[in-house]
Amino acid sequence: MKTIGLLGGMSWESSLEYYRLINQLVRERLGGLHAAQCLLWSFDFAEIEALQAAGDWDGAAQRMVEAAQALERGGADALVICTNTMHKLAPHVEAAMSIPLLHIADTTAQQIVQDGLNTIGLLGTRYTMEQDFYKGRLIERFGLKVITPEAADRTIVHQVIYDELCQGRVHDESRREYLRIIDQLVEQGAQGVILGCTEITLLVKPEHTAIRLYDTTYLHALAAVEWALDGKA
Ligand code: GLU
Repeated sequence: MKTIGLLGGMSWESSLEYYRLINQLVRERLGGLHAAQCLLWSFDFAEIEALQAAGDWDGAAQRMVEAAQALERGGADALVICTNTMHKLAPHVEAAMSIPLLHIADTTAQQIVQDGLNTIGLLGTRYTMEQDFYKGRLIERFGLKVITPEAADRTIVHQVIYDELCQGRVHDESRREYLRIIDQLVEQGAQGVILGCTEITLLVKPEHTAIRLYDTTYLHALAAVEWALDGKA
């Protein structure tokens, strides 16, 4: 089994999910006492969020690169960045290391394409919904049409992530808002919706809606396990 390097703590609420999922998935495949062989670097998310809010992406890239290199030195065979948003800096990280990076947008898009969908809704942080690093990859590499919520709803989605989910708070009222926004994306033509922030899975689950959800945390963890066991992702 190969060693998975997790770049996490963004926030630790979702890193916990990654840790649980990769271990569960290895147990499902190998049985008994088997578990994932992994290393975790966990940031103090307050420091990372301050860099994001200040627009200091160079500073954030430096922190990410240092942490990724520490994981590589520690013996990681591949890198998993446990957040959609910080894949904005994936090119910097990739350039600074010699182990592969398993990109969260790719693992998600591969499933969407395999399911035969071509128009997809995207929920995530403001950075993920509005900038090109994520949407652009879905469009250019996978030929998907991507629909995001309107401005006021993007603000709601973003704030729930930072003010609630990353702080361990899961509120029914916020779930109702998310479900309303998901329904609107479907009205606009979305055939499914990407939960494009690794904490959204804590709030919205398949039992809450009939719409097909793409849980990036699960799909990314699954890809990491498949890579660690078979060399495939
Ligand atoms: N975990 C989140 C994501 O997947 C948001 C936190 C962050 O900014 O990294 O985008």
